[in-house]
Amino acid sequence: MSMPDAQDGAPVTDGAGSPAEAAGQRPVLVINAGSSSLKYQLVVAGSGTSLATGLIERIGLDEGRATHTVDGQGHVLEQEIPDHTAAFEVLTAQFRDHGPDLQEAAPVAIGHRVVHGGAKFASTVLIDDEVLKTLRRLVPLAPLHNPGNIAGIEVALETFPDLPQVAVFDTAFHQSMPPAAYTYAIPLSWRQTFNIRSYGFHGTSHSYVSRRTAELLGTPLEETNVVVLHLGNGASACAVEGGRSVDTSMGLSPLGGLVMGTRPGDLDPGLPAHMSRVSGMTLPEFDHALNKESGLKALAGSSDFREVMDLRDSGDPDAELAFDVVVHRLVRHLGALALVLGRLDAVAFTAGIGENSPELRAAVLGRAGLLGVELDEQANAGARGETRISTPDSAVAAFVVPTNEEWEIALEAARLLANH
Ligand code: AMP
Repeated sequence: MSMPDAQDGAPVTDGAGSPAEAAGQRPVLVINAGSSSLKYQLVVAGSGTSLATGLIERIGLDEGRATHTVDGQGHVLEQEIPDHTAAFEVLTAQFRDHGPDLQEAAPVAIGHRVVHGGAKFASTVLIDDEVLKTLRRLVPLAPLHNPGNIAGIEVALETFPDLPQVAVFDTAFHQSMPPAAYTYAIPLSWRQTFNIRSYGFHGTSHSYVSRRTAELLGTPLEETNVVVLHLGNGASACAVEGGRSVDTSMGLSPLGGLVMGTRPGDLDPGLPAHMSRVSGMTLPEFDHALNKESGLKALAGSSDFREVMDLRDSGDPDAELAFDVVVHRLVRHLGALALVLGRLDAVAFTAGIGENSPELRAAVLGRAGLLGVELDEQANAGARGETRISTPDSAVAAFVVPTNEEWEIALEAARLLANH
């Protein structure tokens, strides 16, 4: 069995019967724990085969809901799920009742998605007490995300004490950015004392999609330059040079860059002080508005891109403007990242919007002629799964590449264990 190359180009598989081969054949239990939800997937690192997926929602709220899907069949459980300990009890019960049997499946590890690894973690790590302590120290960098991730890790360590557990960071892939890309022009004491800089997010997705794009192009990853546009509820663009992130649109927090479902992307840094002066708005209010009330929701009344497109189709002027703002911001970032790369081989669209909206892809690529991208309208309109959407003669290729963050996390976990 062969495995796709890992992030740094080193194959996970190094020969039949080797530890890497063995690690790749067994599944990894991938956990993505948020403050009120827990997503999981049992996935075989070597093949990407998903054996079961699950979503536990409304943790800590009145009525919890858990969906466990095996062989395309969903099993729903509704009960109170007061905390993450209860969520893991539900997870093990779902596996016990609906399979696959976790003992028999014998996961080789648990791979935890962790949003922010700061500058401390440039790659996947095996979780121990020291790592957990560092993660807790990093909470101020991602107050909305890291606490949920940490709660998931703490309970998983109690629930599965015999399994190796690894942390895979959204930020790690971007630790290859050069100082010129990640440094903010702000006072030295902020940068030194509080580690204020650009970190970038969606790293597992950018890593997976850029690697698949090179494979689809048929060129070695080390020689391929790609701009990946991860466009989902959260969105970011990344310039990937030879498999390494060299710049990305998100920065210190997942608020910067592109326009998102409820987040604004780039703003004038003078805005918080200005709003405070003119409206008396407090910083927590401002934080809430930028995380939950901005983006598509602020412009068009819905954070859901599909709904915005339906409104736009019905002639709604706010939805029309929202679409134009989204496209304009994308074009601006695509152009900037292409220049950062110096030479561009491909543009890749991924995540909910990137994979499913031919209108958006056409609007962006229709304005990317300067870069040498020529859209194949028919291929774009009919794209399902991995698809080349540029003409055969296009100087720069364009692709739709469905992301697979769970598989990437499983690969990372298997690779780490194989090298241990
Ligand atoms: P994600 O965060 O990757 O799950 O992406 C969620 C976003 O993808 C939401 O804004 C959805 O409206 C959008 N989306 C999902 N399916 C489609 C579709 N068929 N057409 C347009 N947007 C879609």
